Amino acid sequence: MAKDGSYRDRSVLIHGKFKSEKWSFADHITPPITTAVSFRLRSAERGAQGFQQFANPEYDRDTTTPVYIYDRLDEPCQGLLEETLAFAEKGECAVSFATGMAAVSAAIGIFLRTGDHIVYHPAIYGCTHSHIQNWLTRFGITNTGVNLNDLSALEKAITDDTRVIYFETPCNPTMELIDMEALVGLVKKINKKRPAERKLMTVVDNTFASPYGQRPITHGIDLVLHSLTKHIGGFGCTMGGVVVTRKEFESDLLVYRKDFGGSLSPDAAWHILTYGVPTLSLRLERQQTSAQRVAEFLDLHGKVSKVHYPGLDTFAQKDLAHKQMRDIDGDFAPGAMIYFEIAGNPEQSYQRAMKVIDHIAANSLSITLAVSLGQIRTLVEHPASMTHSALPPEAQLEAGIAPGGIRLSLGLEDVRDILRDLEQALNTI
Ligand SMILES: *Cc1c(COP(=O)(O)O)cnc(C)c1O
Repeated sequence: MAKDGSYRDRSVLIHGKFKSEKWSFADHITPPITTAVSFRLRSAERGAQGFQQFANPEYDRDTTTPVYIYDRLDEPCQGLLEETLAFAEKGECAVSFATGMAAVSAAIGIFLRTGDHIVYHPAIYGCTHSHIQNWLTRFGITNTGVNLNDLSALEKAITDDTRVIYFETPCNPTMELIDMEALVGLVKKINKKRPAERKLMTVVDNTFASPYGQRPITHGIDLVLHSLTKHIGGFGCTMGGVVVTRKEFESDLLVYRKDFGGSLSPDAAWHILTYGVPTLSLRLERQQTSAQRVAEFLDLHGKVSKVHYPGLDTFAQKDLAHKQMRDIDGDFAPGAMIYFEIAGNPEQSYQRAMKVIDHIAANSLSITLAVSLGQIRTLVEHPASMTHSALPPEAQLEAGIAPGGIRLSLGLEDVRDILRDLEQALNTI
């Protein structure tokens, strides 16, 4: 029989691992769902064994049949989803979480102690920014925002206390990319002089590209995280998060999840495993094709001053995009997200962007005014006044968020309808 590794990613994302220790597949085609919070332990010895094995690195989760105890610790649907997502991201293990933010806080939280320092790229998800600025600082964890593509500025920002380097690529919402291999090169150089427990850890939020479009671990990144709520969930009906990394960090992630409590519900895990992951490549292919066409349309439109989409010839980091944004077949994958700026001075462009969005909200079937992204429905929003409004104006400017900037997440509608709805809205300004 062929080994798992000989099948293409597309097939494995549909079936998961052919054989799993998490459940017997003898009778199930779709993954099972269990709704019991606690599990029958059968004997005192088996109960003790469950507690002894949980998050214990001596027991390999891939090859040990788990003794399930309580849903917050571990349960079968989470486990099946984790195996599949570890495969998708080319990592050794994955730990799921209740939301993307629970994954963000765990991925950095397992490394940080009072006195530590975190370096991050300024264009960053609003709640991640708030987590770092408003909460970690309370525990004496300091931070510096610095352009991670400027390696000399980064080197200056890194101190002996720095433990984590955190970023997104593409960044939300500006679509700016971080050169992962250049960054990892510098980090490796610095890490040579550091003891194991003080090594710099690189953490990337890969939500925008999804594992379909880019696998940062293959570029040397230590931890990759996702909001499963977005592309991977895909249908906009379940929240979730995941961290994918090396085995050595699995136990800490499991214990962090157990003690902070951000465990993914079995129901959400089941939906993501049954509907989201198997359709990921199909959805992304279609959405990306639409995004390319919409980006080309916007690029030629007189009312639009700038379009940020990695698939355009005018994209500032085109070479880098071609280097690191590669789909599961190795082809260029510019993704399903577009950021574009309405022409005019700051005040004008702000007002015009609001008008375009209001017209869409009132008249468009194919484009919905809503936050979030990566759904089968095309979503539009205005980062400066919505998702990124928590960033003070200076921070918005530093992050490249324009007053007249609009974010589009392409869905599965007929692209001709999306183009017409956009054109009609742009005609009103
Ligand atoms: C949505 C999002 C998150 C947070 O995910 P939730 O599931 O909403 O908690 C983090 N990072 C990025 C880039 C996101 O788009």
